[in-house]
Amino acid sequence: MPNSKFVNKINFLQEPGASATVMPSNDILMYLEKYIIAPAEEKCEYGIYSKAREIPIFFVSEKTINQKRLAIVQGIFFDLRKLLEFVDGDRVWKLWENELNTTERLLLKKNYDETLDETLVKWTDPIGLYLPKGELQDQGPEIWVSYEKICNLHQNTQDSKYTTALTLVHELGHAIMDAPTTGLYCLKTWVEEPLANMIALHYLDSVGPSKTYGNARMDYVTDFVQNQPENYALGLNLFRSNRGFDWKAWKNAKWLLCFKNDALVDWVEYIKGNLANVDDRRLKDLFREIVRQPIEFNQTLLQQAEKLYEK
Ligand SMILES: [Zn+2]
Repeated sequence: MPNSKFVNKINFLQEPGASATVMPSNDILMYLEKYIIAPAEEKCEYGIYSKAREIPIFFVSEKTINQKRLAIVQGIFFDLRKLLEFVDGDRVWKLWENELNTTERLLLKKNYDETLDETLVKWTDPIGLYLPKGELQDQGPEIWVSYEKICNLHQNTQDSKYTTALTLVHELGHAIMDAPTTGLYCLKTWVEEPLANMIALHYLDSVGPSKTYGNARMDYVTDFVQNQPENYALGLNLFRSNRGFDWKAWKNAKWLLCFKNDALVDWVEYIKGNLANVDDRRLKDLFREIVRQPIEFNQTLLQQAEKLYEK
């Protein structure tokens, strides 16, 4: 049995076999539950607190979280190759040109190559993961947070605490949006990640200023999100928008994702070119197209879906 710390109702777990230093202090665990998640839930009622009590939340080492993320990114490459089968090649390269160099493009066109591992690591620097059941593993769902890595990245304990709170609620955001999907991960992530950040920001904001530190927490996490990669940073736009980007609509549309490649590519293209000055109405229109139901099926859509199911 993994070593566990019980604080009130959430069962925080230590990665089996890892050193005790991967666990935050009892004070921080208490802070996460009593001062963030529980009071925020009373205001927002997204069901995050009940997810937090239901899903195992593991604090894992830096090494463990990096390895798992690598496996996920290999899946993204698999998806990118699929995407090339039914989206115009130039459009695909335009989307990924900043991420991939020439060698990687050549590798991508051929079969997946072990030498890509090093390349893939640079893409990603995970501090938390939501692992849905069946996507990469049989057990699940699980949440992994690397407090060890968060502390290594920050000089200041207060910053580590805020980052841990943001990360945990972000992963719980994935948990409440979880639904079976057959869409391409490489496209799905451009909607899922900003929405998870939007949810996390709503949660942290709803707690209000702290008696001791005022708005320091909210200022810190807003800045943090703004400096994340584009798809995560978009979460701040969604949070600040008054147009209401509905995460429940996204959850309910996931089963349709295999028919939504064009709408998703349009969304990614728009964000990639316009993050600094997103037009809210345009963004909402693109979002509406992604979550729109019912849809009219045509031959092309059905063929694309069939190819996706092949995997
Ligand atoms: Zn995420």
